[in-house]
Amino acid sequence: MAVLRTLLCLLLTSNSLATAHRLDGSLATPQHPISNPELTVHGIPPSTRTHWMRAANAALTASGSSCPFAAFGTAIVNHTSSDNSLGELICTGVNQNSLTGNPTLHGEMVATSNCTAILTDPAGSFKLSTSEASAAWKDLTLYTNAESCPMCASAIRWAGLKEYVYGTSIGRLIETGWGQIDIASEEVFRQSWNLGTSTKSVAEVLTNETDPYFLWQFQEGEPCPGDCVRGEKGRCEER
Ligand SMILES: [Zn+2]
Repeated sequence: MAVLRTLLCLLLTSNSLATAHRLDGSLATPQHPISNPELTVHGIPPSTRTHWMRAANAALTASGSSCPFAAFGTAIVNHTSSDNSLGELICTGVNQNSLTGNPTLHGEMVATSNCTAILTDPAGSFKLSTSEASAAWKDLTLYTNAESCPMCASAIRWAGLKEYVYGTSIGRLIETGWGQIDIASEEVFRQSWNLGTSTKSVAEVLTNETDPYFLWQFQEGEPCPGDCVRGEKGRCEER
């Protein structure tokens, strides 16, 4: 009898949990990342994902160094443009925390600001109104060479971006010595079910090329990325 009561109790508990899950919407709108880099997603082949992930890395070099300490780079791309099968680069952004002293200026936030300025520039290519710019995000894809922190993942969801593609995962950053808020972007996405938009995630793209940007800082034996070499103090520096 006691066993039966325990079983009944377990059954009721799991039922009420399942109901709660449905009430918060997480079962109704699951948003799992696609972590198979070989898959074609939204008709975009892996070779195109690789191309733009390299653009996120290259944004670092364009900003002055291929081995900055905070080597977080972003590229935002329009894959719905019919002019170019690769897609159209709208803007890039790199981490500017140490440059500005502003702790919120992660690569994704900088790119979001840069793209907003470009889309709404009255003398630029797009000349969008602010409402048109707000609506434009749903056609855009953000590539970041490392998984977004909860702040940036939230910004991506507030923007309602069509896709979010990242290289090195937060878990990998933490295990290699980085201080990070240990919340996967997938979790932020799951909890953003009430925004009325969805963003498709493609995870861990080109990690063999993104990882080296983040491994050298806390591990002396790791090689420097790009054209950099270890300097006298052990820090990676441009040759
Ligand atoms: Zn961030």
